[in-house]
Amino acid sequence: MELDNLGDWRKTHFTKDVTIELVSKEVILGGWVRNYRNLGGLKFISLQDKYGERQITLKKGVVSDELFEKAKVGYQYCIMVKGIVKKFKEAPGGIEIIPSALKILNTTPDKLPIDMTGETVSELDLRLNNRALDLRSLKNQAVFRIRGEMFKSIRKFLFERNFTEMTTPKIIASATEGGTELFPIIYFEKEAFLTQSAQLYKEQLSGVYERVFEISDCFRAEKHRTKRHLCEILTLDVEIAFSTMEDVLKLLEELVYNVLEDIRENQMTALDYLEMENISMTPEIPFPRYKYEEIIELISTKFGINIEFGEDISTEAYRKLGKELTSYYYITHWPMSIKPFYIMPSKDSKYSESFDLQKGMLELTSGGTRVHNKEQLINALESKGLNSSSFRSHLNSFDYGMPPHAGFGLGIDRWLTMICGLNDIREAVMYPRTADRLTP
Ligand code: ATP
Ligand code: MN
Repeated sequence: MELDNLGDWRKTHFTKDVTIELVSKEVILGGWVRNYRNLGGLKFISLQDKYGERQITLKKGVVSDELFEKAKVGYQYCIMVKGIVKKFKEAPGGIEIIPSALKILNTTPDKLPIDMTGETVSELDLRLNNRALDLRSLKNQAVFRIRGEMFKSIRKFLFERNFTEMTTPKIIASATEGGTELFPIIYFEKEAFLTQSAQLYKEQLSGVYERVFEISDCFRAEKHRTKRHLCEILTLDVEIAFSTMEDVLKLLEELVYNVLEDIRENQMTALDYLEMENISMTPEIPFPRYKYEEIIELISTKFGINIEFGEDISTEAYRKLGKELTSYYYITHWPMSIKPFYIMPSKDSKYSESFDLQKGMLELTSGGTRVHNKEQLINALESKGLNSSSFRSHLNSFDYGMPPHAGFGLGIDRWLTMICGLNDIREAVMYPRTADRLTP
């Protein structure tokens, strides 16, 4: 089949902009064939682009015979159409296009590897294997529009509050938190690692810019095979000088509230598409706060699951808890014994000035007040069995007037999974990385 050239055709509109106001006007649309029907003397093509779809109607006798003949398309053919906008209640957007010309710019095989009509949902691994095609689905377009709104809204919220956006290195010389969950890489003649979080850099920079944030990749070499873990994640890291956990708890709930409001305000059609318009209702703030001890008490009395003070809360316990506490809530004052060295112990040093933000069973954020006194930090490192000499350059920055500071790290992919009601975190990332997946 001979393909058409783009020539001097340019899109005049995206599908979303072809509204009732354009009735009787000529438009040029471009996109892909989501679906098509041939009813003998009548052909329908639904043309989709990054924002949605519009129906192209070809009726024999109304369009030229030549054009009617030419309109032989397959799923996901790349096409452009020039035509007149007409009102038609039954079509998407209440609009149909009566074409005067059509260009077929590229074709597809007869059988696509995954369903793109939206009528059935192909298996996730198969979809991920064909991700560039899969992402074109109207559902995925909706998910990633919401992801984009999150970035925009987070930045707006933080810039309005005098934050500075930082960019910190992702290649590091040694472990951030002394964990073993790092990916080693070969860095010239040396071994280096991919960063697991911006923790140390954001603390250092809070001593420069006072209020800092970053939205960036972190790498977790965890062999989890769950629907909420990835090996490459995007986190929002925030650090605030001259503040404590109390201030951070307030800022974070406001941020969550604002971002959800923005999504509701600006991405209603995407939410609508995902059938999430009611479920993603903005929660009331302030969020309920529970101390770790209250939570393990509740888990024990309500569900009969015993958690010793100092143990992590198991997935099973979180699952049950999430059925009780379905919205956003904080768990504060975790045992110091299970928190990283940089977390500030509470007055009673059995506890710590730390918190998680939960939504139902899922952890969304961890944060807390940090230690800013160098001697105390060295002691904390050593009592966690870490070697303070491998943190020398970080510790040096604490010699020059490090302010008291506090902050948090929020998992963007996990949050998007919740907001969009997705079943698996891999659906919230364009190209997910897990223990089993390194391509595409
Ligand atoms: P979890 O206990 O759920 O594995 P974590 O406590 O190890 O998470 P943090 O180090 O506190 O994770 O990271 C901050 C946030 O980043 C988490 O609250 C979560 O939202 C997100 N996150 C952490 N690890 C992952 C992962 N492997 N995949 C997806 N998101 C993650
Ligand atoms: Mn955590």
